[in-house]
Amino acid sequence: MAEPRRVAIIGAGPSGIFAAQALLNHPGIQIDLFDRLPTPYGLLRYGVAPDHTSIKGMGVALARVFDSPDVRFLGNVELGRDVTREELLGAYDAVIYAAGAAEDAEMAVPGENLPGSQSARSFVAWYSGHPDAVPFRLTGVRSVVTVGVGNVAVDVSRILCKSVAELTPTDMPDAVLNELRGHEVRDVWVVGRRGPEHASFTTTELRELLTLPEVQPVVHDDLDGLDVTTLDRRPRANIEAMRAAKQRDVPDASMRLHLLFWHRPVEIRGNRRVSGITLERTALDADGRLIGTGEDRTVECELVLRAIGYRATPLPGVPFDEARGVIPNRSGRVVNACGEVAPREYAVGWIKRGPTGVIGTNKSDAAETVAALAEDLEDEEMSRPGWGDTAPLEAVDELLRRKGLTPTSYADWMRIDAAETALGGRYGRARTKIATWDELLDIARGPGSVSSRRGGGGAQGGQHGGVDGGVHGGQPGG
Ligand code: NAP
Repeated sequence: MAEPRRVAIIGAGPSGIFAAQALLNHPGIQIDLFDRLPTPYGLLRYGVAPDHTSIKGMGVALARVFDSPDVRFLGNVELGRDVTREELLGAYDAVIYAAGAAEDAEMAVPGENLPGSQSARSFVAWYSGHPDAVPFRLTGVRSVVTVGVGNVAVDVSRILCKSVAELTPTDMPDAVLNELRGHEVRDVWVVGRRGPEHASFTTTELRELLTLPEVQPVVHDDLDGLDVTTLDRRPRANIEAMRAAKQRDVPDASMRLHLLFWHRPVEIRGNRRVSGITLERTALDADGRLIGTGEDRTVECELVLRAIGYRATPLPGVPFDEARGVIPNRSGRVVNACGEVAPREYAVGWIKRGPTGVIGTNKSDAAETVAALAEDLEDEEMSRPGWGDTAPLEAVDELLRRKGLTPTSYADWMRIDAAETALGGRYGRARTKIATWDELLDIARGPGSVSSRRGGGGAQGGQHGGVDGGVHGGQPGG
């Protein structure tokens, strides 16, 4: 019987797991799913909003992949910090990079680094209980401006607008619920640099935001002049949702949710911390390019959350297209700086195509990459040993042992899962997230263990877009 092929997947988020699922359709392949975190599921666990339980439910389907004896989870192992690309290529027939998009785009305006100016990602990481998250303090925050009109902006705004009673059934850590319980935010602004017809949020998410109980929506733009008949379905439905919101009167509102389009940030104001944001009115020129009109307005706020898109972090030694923020690839096959295919290396998910689409988009994306990989495995030229070179593959477990690595396994994750479920159960919740490295590792290793997080920080930040590496630190608001 032919020796099984070994494939390493770097990043055990949805895109990595979808790749593993697709690989299982090809018999004779053993798959190791690595993650820098001790837990699997990536963005599903640390990016999907905790109150979106139906999307979170996708975890049940993703978990099935670990039922296969051919799939292992190896957590707390980071490419670059613990293992190198070369070591992986020496131990596996193929490596699939599924590390997501761990960085934020920047606004590049003065004051962007003032305390109180944060990435939406860091806010998401905090309320999702990511172990790298830096706690937010909302004391003294009465007005929040979210820059960007995509689904991330909607998520963070909705979490701020919802009552703690509505958020209690979620898996948010207790410390997060406690902070949200006392907050005094009264105004949440969502600001788009182009028009309402250009917003990238989806209608279901927008509608949910605009119909929250006790929240008065305030749509600042005049939508009457907009001819929706020329628009595609989603922008048309978005405009209809905004028109309906304009009619909505919420007499008992405790908060206001402002939508403001055609404004771009030009400065975050404040001395020692954020006190406001200056926005310039924008328009499109004759060529459809966004231009400033020179007409400014300032919105007072104590917290600015930029939700203007994510960027992948380059992986050490792996080709990277700085301009596009992705691993250059052809149908998932990694392409080097000379434009040639780098044998045995593949990419899936956001690091392959950029931070677009919903979780399910990664399924077809992974199918494309795995089809390319499977085709390459069939190639006689690529047959073992070593796909052209002569060295046999190093035993993976030997490699890890030699490096002193004791990855967390799927069984370890099951212990964390059980502990979180038990913690939630104490207060009638389905789950309460455990949010520190030490606790996660102690539970993973079992009673009497000594937690050890190898290194710290690391080149990848987060292998699937969960957090911005916890580099923010201003208070309040982070
Ligand atoms: P996004 O959809 O790409 O939205 C980014 C927003 O930021 C756009 O409105 C963009 O405006 C704006 N922007 C970019 N650069 C800017 C700048 N310098 N100044 C001001 N505004 C700027 O990204 P996202 O919201 O981060 O979402 C990422 C992906 O995750 C999306 O595919 C999203 O659908 C998905 N997601 C889905 C869900 C869900 O399904 N519930 C939840 C969260 C995220 P322009 O259009 O003018 O560039």
